[in-house]
Amino acid sequence: MNLPLTDSPLERLGWDDGWEAAFAEHRAAGLIPARVAVQHRGAYDLAHGPDPIRAAAAARLAREDRLPAVGDWVGLDPETTLVEAVLPRRTVLSRKEALNATREQVLAANVDVAFLIQSLPLDFNVRRLERYLAMAWESGAQPVVLLTKIDLVDDYSPFVAEAETITFGACPVHPVSAHSGDGLDEVRAWFRGNRTAVLVGSSGVGKSTLVNALVGEELLETQAVREEDHAGRHTTTRRELVLLPTGGVVLDTPGIRELQLWDADLDQAFGDVEEFALRCRFSDCSHRTEPGCAIRTALRDGSLSADRWTSYVKLQRELRALEIRRNHLLRREQLREYKIRARQHRSKRR
Ligand code: GDP
Ligand code: ZN
Repeated sequence: MNLPLTDSPLERLGWDDGWEAAFAEHRAAGLIPARVAVQHRGAYDLAHGPDPIRAAAAARLAREDRLPAVGDWVGLDPETTLVEAVLPRRTVLSRKEALNATREQVLAANVDVAFLIQSLPLDFNVRRLERYLAMAWESGAQPVVLLTKIDLVDDYSPFVAEAETITFGACPVHPVSAHSGDGLDEVRAWFRGNRTAVLVGSSGVGKSTLVNALVGEELLETQAVREEDHAGRHTTTRRELVLLPTGGVVLDTPGIRELQLWDADLDQAFGDVEEFALRCRFSDCSHRTEPGCAIRTALRDGSLSADRWTSYVKLQRELRALEIRRNHLLRREQLREYKIRARQHRSKRR
């Protein structure tokens, strides 16, 4: 095993002999290796040494449909700061675009470990875990199930046992608590050899808290902090590639985080919350100022935890945004089909 502190910055980001061999021709051409940390519109932040490099992709890569994604190893021309090459990917975490199953959006490249995260006791859902597993197996990354917030249950072993009924021994299940520190060493062990991981899981399961615990500082704002902004805005830019102090990388892009939302089922995951909402005096209660609000009563008397309510509100907001996007895509698709049919109709009449 590598001694972490003697690794070069590039090695701590996951660079190894295999990548070096794949890069030989590009090095000969004067390119330098770097890893895509953040993808902006038309630009990339590349990790290489202590400071990120802002770069654009060479037009040729766009023409050839070979634009880099977060996690890609690329060849940078230091003179032009253009990305000229993308190394062949070892793994690809992608999602098929809605209604357009032939095009896939690469969410992250070269991921070694996919942490599939559910928090105890309420977020645990074997059916959803199955979907995460299917996605991880397809990507080529090693899935590892993390059951978080075990400090909130008396006994986590029934949950572990239930998760193991669908992992078939091919995927470890670790119980962890970022608050107590239990299980964190098992999580850290997966980063040995400077491996790259992603965190997949619903909003509020503790992904940011976990990353902060691994890094040892408040690097990502957690949901509790974000919630203080009542306007619903947060202006701080998120770090998408987090380098751990002992080497290894967490890729934490919004796309990966939102992955589950394409299938999220609020009724099932938040049946308790929806039950409270049914008891509000007004059926269109916003749960803010209306009299007879059962949600606010439940929050006050503790039968609904603030954490859980926060997760629910956030998830609901994200789902609504997603629905608007889906409807938009659907209309665009319908319009296109209509135009095609109209054209066929006209040419038939001629
Ligand atoms: P994310 O949306 O998945 O990034 O979740 P956050 O990291 O923002 O955490 C959501 C909430 O869960 C916050 O209020 C955290 O303090 C809380 N939380 C995170 N980890 C734990 C844990 O191990 N135990 C308990 N009890 N709460 C936790
Ligand atoms: Zn209400």
